[in-house]
Amino acid sequence: MAADAGIRAGGRVAGADDVIVIGGGIAGCATACYLARDGVRVRLVERASVNGLASSANAGSLHAQIPHDPFRHLGADWARSFSPAVRLFIASLGLWKTLEDDLGADLEIGFGGGLLVGADATEMAEIEAKAEIERAAGLPVELLDERAVRARAPYLAPKIMGGAFCPIEGKANPLLVATAYAAAARAAGAVIETHGGPATIRRDGPLYTVAAGGRAWQAPRIVIAAGSETGTLAAALGARLAIEAFPIQVSVTEPAEPLVPHLVYCAGEKLTMKQTRVGSILIGGGWAADLDQAGRPVVSIDNLSRNLAVACGVVPGIAGLRLVRSWAAFVNGTADWLPILGELPQSPGAFINYVPWMGFTGGPAAARSIASQVQGRPCPLGLDLDAFSPRGG
Ligand SMILES: Cc1cc2nc3c(=O)[nH]c(=O)nc-3n(C[C@H](O)[C@H](O)[C@H](O)COP(=O)(O)OP(=O)(O)OC[C@H]3O[C@@H](n4cnc5c(N)ncnc54)[C@H](O)[C@@H]3O)c2cc1C
Repeated sequence: MAADAGIRAGGRVAGADDVIVIGGGIAGCATACYLARDGVRVRLVERASVNGLASSANAGSLHAQIPHDPFRHLGADWARSFSPAVRLFIASLGLWKTLEDDLGADLEIGFGGGLLVGADATEMAEIEAKAEIERAAGLPVELLDERAVRARAPYLAPKIMGGAFCPIEGKANPLLVATAYAAAARAAGAVIETHGGPATIRRDGPLYTVAAGGRAWQAPRIVIAAGSETGTLAAALGARLAIEAFPIQVSVTEPAEPLVPHLVYCAGEKLTMKQTRVGSILIGGGWAADLDQAGRPVVSIDNLSRNLAVACGVVPGIAGLRLVRSWAAFVNGTADWLPILGELPQSPGAFINYVPWMGFTGGPAAARSIASQVQGRPCPLGLDLDAFSPRGG
């Protein structure tokens, strides 16, 4: 069946759902929510609990700037090729702005802006070069010299020479978001199946059969939104997607007085830092975690020390705080950092919703776009998803 033939034309299959979404992270829950609100009969199948993996374990940064670490390693041409993702993040931040009202939930969203700081001339030159590419992609970025950065962020260490400020960036509480989307999806009529173990997919003529926990459901369309497991599920349909998973870690301090109103990044070393609503400082930046003998991510003490040293070097005022928790989880990645969004060419009716590295930020816009594409409708956000078409590895 062509991807756009059925749902809008009322071509429903008796006894089948219109769409089955696999995966109950932000990608899957948001997709199910937008589909259900559009009047589509949707079932979400999650192998364990909703919001149990990366979507709840992340650092809660709402990004739009091109990440600095890959910019340093992959270069300006890569950054230009990443511009469609910047546009996706801008559109997503637009949805984040009204998400609490939209979902009727407090998600602890704040938009203090993001500040990428540099400590020497080389870092400042990189920041400037990256900002030019970001502006060309439509992102508002203000370059700050030493005086301006100090005026805006007096909490920074004296070594900081300047930075780039992006006013639309912010933060949210990842423990709250996918579950709020799931509740909104249910309220709009979606059925959410959990704890059946890993779902499998089989194509049976015009229908897909999704089975888990001894039960099976059918639909003419499916959306695979299974985070770092997306490649395994797509492989069952003959698609080889270049998807990777990396164990990374985040830490949080005890609550402190208001100190850091921005999302802070550092050009010289991996760092993200923000202060949550209760005052805790969340410290991350994509530092690698270790794997235990069972292959589960566990905190690397070496990288924890390095991450904290970088954080204290940039914001000395946090040095006296006690750390209360560090945790590790798999982040979903792609080598080119680009999302994979769209219909599998070898398996019509099967769609991928996969935003790597920054899938918390990109979740709302990716889900809204895929929910429309599944129905054969134009993307209401005006995004061109061609750059994200499923591609092989
Ligand atoms: C430590 C860390 C920090 C991060 N920091 C940020 C950040 O600050 N900002 C940001 O934007 N992004 C951040 N990210 C990335 C972001 O969290 C992810 O990109 C995003 O959550 C991916 O969402 P998802 O729904 O695709 O995947 P997930 O949240 O991983 O959800 C996938 C779901 O699919 C289910 N599933 C898998 N296989 C099957 C199957 N066969 N059958 C049924 N269900 C299945 C899983 O159980 C899981 O619930 C971070 C990630 C990590 C790990």
